[in-house]
Amino acid sequence: MFALMQSTRTQSLHLFIDPPTGLKAVVAIHSQQLGPAMGGCRYLPYADDESAMTDAIRLAQGMSYKAALAGLPMGGGKAVIVRNPHVENRAALFEAFGRFVDTLQGRFITAVDSGTSTLDMDCIAQATPYVTSTTASGDPSPHAALGVFAGIRATSMARLGSDNLEGLRVAVQGLGNVGYALAEQLHAAGAELLVSDLDAGKVRLAVEQLNAHPVAHEALLSTPCDIFAPCGVGPVLNGQSVMQLRCAAVAGSANNQLTTLQVADQLENRGILYAPDYVINAGGLIYVALTHRGEGLGTITAHLARIPSRLTEVFAHAQAEKRSPARVAQMLAERLLYG
Ligand code: NAD
Repeated sequence: MFALMQSTRTQSLHLFIDPPTGLKAVVAIHSQQLGPAMGGCRYLPYADDESAMTDAIRLAQGMSYKAALAGLPMGGGKAVIVRNPHVENRAALFEAFGRFVDTLQGRFITAVDSGTSTLDMDCIAQATPYVTSTTASGDPSPHAALGVFAGIRATSMARLGSDNLEGLRVAVQGLGNVGYALAEQLHAAGAELLVSDLDAGKVRLAVEQLNAHPVAHEALLSTPCDIFAPCGVGPVLNGQSVMQLRCAAVAGSANNQLTTLQVADQLENRGILYAPDYVINAGGLIYVALTHRGEGLGTITAHLARIPSRLTEVFAHAQAEKRSPARVAQMLAERLLYG
């Protein structure tokens, strides 16, 4: 774990247990260079404790890069609560987590993420002020989806020469809080949707409400489309899966879509334009960071509107340097963080 912390330049890793509630949690603080570390709280099952810690560390690094490139005065962190199928009192578990977050004295501020809801954040808020996206301050997911939608238009412009999504075939992997809201916007813009989710009910809803074509989740990667939009959980693009893609571009909300940067080079070599995850999906962080600072919707909307131009800038830079947009985004973020 220390080697991973060193290679990712992670500042600290905090482990918490609370036997009465069954809580097992990890908080990774990647950087506080630009401000307090902010990051979502995941509540998911993990194969083992090491996987939970690795996930938190990698995601926290992505949050630092995301905040830096979005021009937010925040650092990056991430919380992972290991999901246990036998938890009796979910509210007590999240309140216990809140007590632990409070011990970090504002160095880490948490928010909704995969597997958690605004109600869970309300429970955390019983024990600490260092939490956002409570029911009072709102769910960031619609804002993340708005940013990804605008980013897909910018990606389409850069790769296909038009930002008109009418008739564009978009494969959405994962119809959760962000994926479904994104699918709604794509549908409204006239895009043709190909969708998959591990939850058949969500797919059924998209078929009924958005005229989407259902695709088996193991087949979506290799389905011909214009844009592949990963909106599920975890790294979907590795050395093998990237060879199955039959799309012009990858642009979606999921964090940590690539297993390694070499995968970004493979995409580049295959002529597939990659919209770096932490650039295109910054809408959720922009929302939680700015609401936590007491900013209004006008400031948030103005900040969100910068996502497509930032992506376009990354694409132009990448094209000029004949490098993957993922490498360019990393270089720009690290320049902001480390000079
Ligand atoms: P969510 O848990 O609400 O939804 C994820 C969905 O993906 C679920 O319906 C799940 O069944 C599905 N899924 C998981 N793996 C899949 C697979 N292999 N194939 C098909 N479907 C799969 O999560 P969310 O809040 O919508 O977030 C989605 C992604 O976007 C996550 O990676 C998250 O970290 C990232 N993200 C979320 C936000 C936000 O504000 N919620 C902001 C930025 C980034």
